[in-house]
Amino acid sequence: MRGGDSHIAPMDAALANPPYAVSERIEPLVRRVLAHNPSHFTYTGTQTYIVGAGDEVAVIDPGPDEPEHIEALLAAIGDAKVSAICCTHTHRDHSPAAIPLAARTGAPIIGCAPLALDDNGPRADAAFDISYRPDRILADGESVRGPDWTLTAVATPGHTSNHLCLALEESGALFTGDHVMGWSTSVVAPPDGDMAAYMASLQKLYDRHDRVYYPAHGPAVEKPRQLVRGMIGHRRQRENQIVRLLGEGVGRIEDMVARMYAGVDKALHPAAGRSVLAHLLDLERRGRVSRSGDIWSINP
Ligand SMILES: [Zn+2]
Repeated sequence: MRGGDSHIAPMDAALANPPYAVSERIEPLVRRVLAHNPSHFTYTGTQTYIVGAGDEVAVIDPGPDEPEHIEALLAAIGDAKVSAICCTHTHRDHSPAAIPLAARTGAPIIGCAPLALDDNGPRADAAFDISYRPDRILADGESVRGPDWTLTAVATPGHTSNHLCLALEESGALFTGDHVMGWSTSVVAPPDGDMAAYMASLQKLYDRHDRVYYPAHGPAVEKPRQLVRGMIGHRRQRENQIVRLLGEGVGRIEDMVARMYAGVDKALHPAAGRSVLAHLLDLERRGRVSRSGDIWSINP
């Protein structure tokens, strides 16, 4: 994992010229188009994938509703029929372009369930896209097909409760959305983000044997199981750190974050705080910690 001990990696200055609005073929059945929405949470931006080498394609994570990005997608699609616009989840950097793209191509929106959440509490990353209306929801294990591709849903709740990865059966690639990324650990922010679900979804990927991961942000992951194993270990380490701090009488989330993320840009501390809260809620559910107001403590 890049970024050392930091939970959320800072922007990598080396990536000065990302390939915005360009279609790159990354394997015979898969092309990638990067949207121009870089940030601390999206790295260089959202990567939309176009699956299929023939005259029928699927689009995965159409991205933000930005005209430059939508035109780049339409140029890459050309005369092909879009059989499905698939969304891994409904954060605003992933799904809003589904509606304009469906309007321009006539394609159905197929994928994760819709999710409308009240925005209670500070959001750690992107807000939810409440405009998202799928034509068909893919349950775990269900597939959508084209002439030379099959995409199968792998339900991976945690980052959001509606998160899906999509497996390309013909090539062994897995589109991981925001569940697993190579450049940073994923933000798990309650109330919708759930650490226990996230850990179970990491284990679910570890138990699969995908060849490569294509995340929505950052480079392809060529050694997926190694990365996932590292992420499971990283989260366990974070949990141990929290338990240790509670044992030392540090019971307030801000104080834990100040110690755990001492080397990380302060602008990212609120997001780190949501992640610590996600761990604490998981520990609370397991009966290991309690809270009184905003002070957390270990159960005797
Ligand atoms: Zn997201």
